[in-house]
Parts: sequence; C-alpha cells; structure tokens
Amino acid sequence: MNDALRIGLGIDVHRLERGRPCVLAGVRCEAPAGPVGHSDGDAALHAACDAVLGAAGLDDLGTLFSDRDPQHRGRDSADFCRACLQRVQERGLRVLSLDLVVETETPRIGPYRQAMRERLAALFDLPVDRVNVKGKSGEKVDAIGRGEALRATAVALLGPR
Ligand code: MG
Repeated sequence: MNDALRIGLGIDVHRLERGRPCVLAGVRCEAPAGPVGHSDGDAALHAACDAVLGAAGLDDLGTLFSDRDPQHRGRDSADFCRACLQRVQERGLRVLSLDLVVETETPRIGPYRQAMRERLAALFDLPVDRVNVKGKSGEKVDAIGRGEALRATAVALLGPR
C-alpha cells in the first residue's frame, strides 16, 4: 500500500438564473441560464478546489475565500484554483488525478467536455489524460432536473511532489 497517496471529495451546488453567463470548469457554455454566486459561480472549479484542499487536509474553499469578502465578488474562479494549488504545493503535494461529474439539464456537458478537461489540467498542473469530466442530466427530478440548479462533484488524488 502506498500511504503517501491522499484522496479528497468536493461537492458544490449553485442556483441557476436566466440570462447569467454560464462558466463551468473555466469554459464559457451556451445556456439560457447560469449559476448564481458571489464569485463567477463556477461550481465545477469550486468542487475541484474542495476535493484538492480536502485531500491535502486544508480548510475548504468557503473558509479560505469567504463569500462575504467584497474582493471576491464576480471573481474568476481560476484564481481560487491557482491559490489552492499553491497551498497544496507548499505542503509538498501535487495533484495526480481529478474526476468530476457535473449534473445539469442545460447546458449538456458533452460538447464542452474536452475543453473542460484541458482547462482543469492547466489550472491544477497535471496531464489532460489524468483529468475527467462527465455530464449527467437531472432526469427531470428535483431542482437540478427542473433546471433550477446544478451540482458538481469532484474527486482528487494527491501524492508527493
Ligand atoms: Mg460554489
């Protein structure tokens, strides 16, 4: 067993509002509605950050970057990823793999999937073939199925630098 490996889980839900830009995993998607949030609302990046931070034994995203802090209003969530990666590296760790599920009625993730993988790989400094993104529809069930919200779930594996 390799006890230097560490796994983390991140989950993020955002309400959707018509007319807002829809940025997921750092990729601008064509959709009638976008996530509401204090920052840009990128639930996929927020889930990825929490998975990475969790694996490193660090505080979660909401603790590190308070949504009450005006300097984070409308902030590009890529900034959060870079800050998380820096903290992880300071702990002598690196991200070995990332796997995400994005549950949403619209947009469908398929057409954006490869761009999302590439963006996540660049932000967390790992090869594209170690990043995966899957889209799931809400199957008309609950707030996600009605198109009122979306949810992103991420798992991260970390190891020594
Ligand atoms: Mg969030």
